[in-house]
Amino acid sequence: MKCKVCRQHAVVDIRRHNAAFCQEHFISHMHNQVARTIKEFKMFDADDRLLIAVSGGKDSLALWDVLLELDYDVVGFYLDLGIGSYSGRSKEAAISFAETRNAKLIVRSLAEEHGYTVPELAKLTGRVPCSGCGLNKRYEFNRAALEEGFDILVTGHNLDDEVATLFGNVLHWNVDMLGRQAPVLEERILGEGTDARVALVRKVKPLVRVAERETAAYALLRGIDYIVEECPMVEGNTQHRYKEAITLLEEASPGTKQQMYFGFLKRAAPRFIAESGEGRLVTCKRCSAPTVAWDGNDSEVLCTFCRTKDHALRRRTDRASIPSPRREGDVDTA
Ligand code: SF4
Ligand code: ZN
Ligand code: ZN
Repeated sequence: MKCKVCRQHAVVDIRRHNAAFCQEHFISHMHNQVARTIKEFKMFDADDRLLIAVSGGKDSLALWDVLLELDYDVVGFYLDLGIGSYSGRSKEAAISFAETRNAKLIVRSLAEEHGYTVPELAKLTGRVPCSGCGLNKRYEFNRAALEEGFDILVTGHNLDDEVATLFGNVLHWNVDMLGRQAPVLEERILGEGTDARVALVRKVKPLVRVAERETAAYALLRGIDYIVEECPMVEGNTQHRYKEAITLLEEASPGTKQQMYFGFLKRAAPRFIAESGEGRLVTCKRCSAPTVAWDGNDSEVLCTFCRTKDHALRRRTDRASIPSPRREGDVDTA
């Protein structure tokens, strides 16, 4: 296996491109792929201030590294989800990457911001952990970007992530989600005239041309110390199962993922955008975050985040007020 560029010994092969690269040319290939995606989808310019959500995993740290190498003004944001020692180790990976690259990292924690962790939230709401986790991440990423004055939120979703999401949305014919599945989600504004404010920050995914296996190779070759283990709560995550299924198809026919995702963007996405309603954006009466109102009284609307948080905290209070069963040896103190 020889490098496509210099004919030296190749260390990474990319079957869907029918190409292999040595270390140096694979790294420049990755930079080119990301730079091409940023340009093609008009994601951002050199003077934009970017906030990148980092989990401590390979994708977000590899992307942060590429953006720093391409000279973008990019700050990291790590949200501690409170998933036991896994969160501890992923936080260490994010901090250590920021230190070695001399980059700024903002760290917040769900427990400090809202009083619960992802495993607690799952128990209190009776829903799978990934559901509450996803909701909290979307809410906190947007809040952090707005509060800290960033123009754009960058995430490390790669080709495999996007194809798995697309697969799930098609399986369930989730037309609204299909209408919103794009490498760029434009910002949304609340209010009018002098009251107008950015409510949902612009979101971009510069890794959509890059497969998961390639971000892992890039991280390895660049000496990025990312957290290799998977989140212990991934069990029951449907997207994870879709990824496994699509990987089987890709192995049998390289290029399937790319064809499915970019074919969708080119040929099908515009039809779903036309069909999916965006809903009116209104202010949540509790936290002032933006939320979609489909009907009803705008001043009474609570966002999904606040409704979920209310529900969880109510369940916790209810549980605390149920007396524990009397045990042998208990003494009445009243
Ligand atoms: Fe959150 Fe689920 Fe991902 Fe774990 S696997 S970090 S719970 S979304
Ligand atoms: Zn080479
Ligand atoms: Zn709210």
